[in-house]
Amino acid sequence: MPLKIAIVGRPNVGKSTLFNRLVGRKVALVDDRPGVTRDRRTGEGSLGGLEFALIDTAGLDDADASSLEGRMRRQTEAAIEEADLCLFMVDARAGVTPVDRHFAAIVRRKGKPVIVLANKAEGRGGENVQEAYALGLGDPIAISAEHGEGLDELYHALLSASLGEAGEDLEAPGEGEETAAHRPLRLAIIGRPNAGKSTLVNALLGEERMLTGPEAGITRDSIATDWSFEGQPIKLWDTAGLRKKARVHDRLEKLSVADALRAIRFSEVVILVVDAESPFEKQDLQIADLVEQEGRALVVALNKWDRVENKQARLRELQLTLSESLPQLRGLPMVAVSALRRQNLDKLMQAAVSAYALWNRRIATSALNRWLEEMVERHPPPAPGGRRIKIRYMTQSNARPPTFVVFCSNAKDLPESYTRYLVNGLRDVFGFPGIPIRLVLRQTKNPYASRGRA
Ligand code: GDP
Repeated sequence: MPLKIAIVGRPNVGKSTLFNRLVGRKVALVDDRPGVTRDRRTGEGSLGGLEFALIDTAGLDDADASSLEGRMRRQTEAAIEEADLCLFMVDARAGVTPVDRHFAAIVRRKGKPVIVLANKAEGRGGENVQEAYALGLGDPIAISAEHGEGLDELYHALLSASLGEAGEDLEAPGEGEETAAHRPLRLAIIGRPNAGKSTLVNALLGEERMLTGPEAGITRDSIATDWSFEGQPIKLWDTAGLRKKARVHDRLEKLSVADALRAIRFSEVVILVVDAESPFEKQDLQIADLVEQEGRALVVALNKWDRVENKQARLRELQLTLSESLPQLRGLPMVAVSALRRQNLDKLMQAAVSAYALWNRRIATSALNRWLEEMVERHPPPAPGGRRIKIRYMTQSNARPPTFVVFCSNAKDLPESYTRYLVNGLRDVFGFPGIPIRLVLRQTKNPYASRGRA
């Protein structure tokens, strides 16, 4: 049974646009005989290989206002009851309105897993995304249904939900750190053909290997293996299993970008296996870069270390190569292993588990701002045209990956070298080695500009 997803929210936030984007041309329209209008339509949606049934309540967007409220509420309730999961949509341009709060209360009462979408966030429309946190339904995802932005993040959230984790998010929004410990760490082991991935997976899983089989709602050929390391539950993306399947059909082995992306998007931590005898070739670096772009935590396994001579010197040399080739992931952990001889595998897994913890970590706003003040004092931002850019305040808006919002005047004039200075500082001072960090600049609002508040 495919996952059933309902798109809900007040009229005109963009539900139909998202529905049409996810369903494409395969729309199954509503029964529109007069008097039997169901006001809901359903379709088969897909995103990045995930397939699901989509229920939309957008038929009501044009309903006449007098009858709207009751019908809309009933339709929303019916859609949620039918669904396994709700996408609750607000308009990031308009911010959160009382009507949104009314709908959020309906969603909350139903107790189904929810993903909050802040739509119309293209361009500079994302200014009010933060407000949606206050609905208490979890971290909002900024999207643009019209321009197709933010769908990667939505994909990942749906994937988590279809693995049965959204319920946990719902029970404890804002307590990510605590729930994260009980949740399986989603791990992918990827690398070029022959780097030793299968050997590594087999060495790690050993006898305990247990295939859980294809999971409902996810692409049919994906296989997740449940496992645990030192008490940490782990869900492993079994590329090895996939590969064996592929081998039957096709003797030519290659790592396609699509395969790598699929594994990366599934995972929270990626172990990139490289062959120590031919390390950091273009494809290895490309995979590392993809992991960074997707915002996942990365650990490098330098495999076949048993074959390497002058190990100490070679390790130093490779560390240097790594830091030069991937400056965006400074401090990336690299562990020399031999999958074949089962050497150093505990150390590799410990590195993966601690990368996961850092990736999930939240820094207190007070500590961040004390640090920010020092950084600004040491190296003040530039003053283009004689007006110094003022950096006022900073907060961590998100973990997984750590995402920081910096509020400043003339945000658009702050040079990239300055944001790099801040990101590198965050990495060094708060300890985010090799973890992708996102820094978002936000224009401080003019305190005298009045804002409509109901
Ligand atoms: P995959 O394509 O990445 O899954 O690679 P495989 O696991 O199939 O391994 C490719 C080859 O490398 C096989 O012949 C393995 O026996 C060998 N191999 C894997 N790990 C090691 C290792 O740590 N040391 C040595 N010497 N050989 C290894």
